Amino acid sequence: MTNRARKPYIAGNWKMNLDRARSLDLIKTVKGRLGDGGDREVAFFVPAIYLADVSAVAQGSPLGIGGQNLWFEANGAFTGEVAPRMLREVGADRVLIGHSERRHVFHEPDDWMGRKVRAALDCDLLPIYCIGETLDERKGNRTERVLKRQLESGFEKVKVEDCHRLTIAYEPVWAIGTGETATTEQVGATHKMIRKWLAVRVGEPAANLVRVLYGGSVKPDNAKDLMAVEHVDGLLVGGASLQAETFLPIVEYDRAPA
Ligand code: PEP
Repeated sequence: MTNRARKPYIAGNWKMNLDRARSLDLIKTVKGRLGDGGDREVAFFVPAIYLADVSAVAQGSPLGIGGQNLWFEANGAFTGEVAPRMLREVGADRVLIGHSERRHVFHEPDDWMGRKVRAALDCDLLPIYCIGETLDERKGNRTERVLKRQLESGFEKVKVEDCHRLTIAYEPVWAIGTGETATTEQVGATHKMIRKWLAVRVGEPAANLVRVLYGGSVKPDNAKDLMAVEHVDGLLVGGASLQAETFLPIVEYDRAPA
């Protein structure tokens, strides 16, 4: 964490986990602990079907609530998809775009990403745009090329004035849900590359407003070290966001354990 102008951002991605009752319990617990939450931003990315109930419980707290995906059109014959305006209607204020499971399990192509990011911004949803290389790509020295291609596609329709609303999450595919975290050296080098790319793409002042999170097997015992890496502005947490006992120590990464 290097730039205090960028508020630390800790986000939980529930994926297709929990049920309605456990979701609401978790929100109540985290809400109770957050208080006014002033010095950090905390959010959960929730299955679409629970968004209305979860955001109702989160109301009155600084907790952000987001969808895990969207389609970039507002209406139409897109069976099974959710429009940005629908996410807004059920209380979401943010959304994940390009999560590795969307790219690799559901084969979402790069050329959808720019339109998805644009659709989110146009509907007042704060996007977290996820990028990351596979193990084969890393082993084949293709990490930088792959990440730059993903960045180009996600930023295709981004304007300089959008940057303060944009977050990037660097999530190496081989570290997601595997228990294998990228080393702090790997994270530092990759975040530095992303920051350099941003400065070229949107100019230094706008680039400085974009937060870049790390994601991939973040746990209470590695959160502090990851947050200490230069250019890391926050964490995107999957498995450890499903329980207050593991998520809260990550949110409170800089406080001594009770
Ligand atoms: C994720 O879902 O974005 C993620 C990083 O998962 P996990 O923390 O379980 O690796």
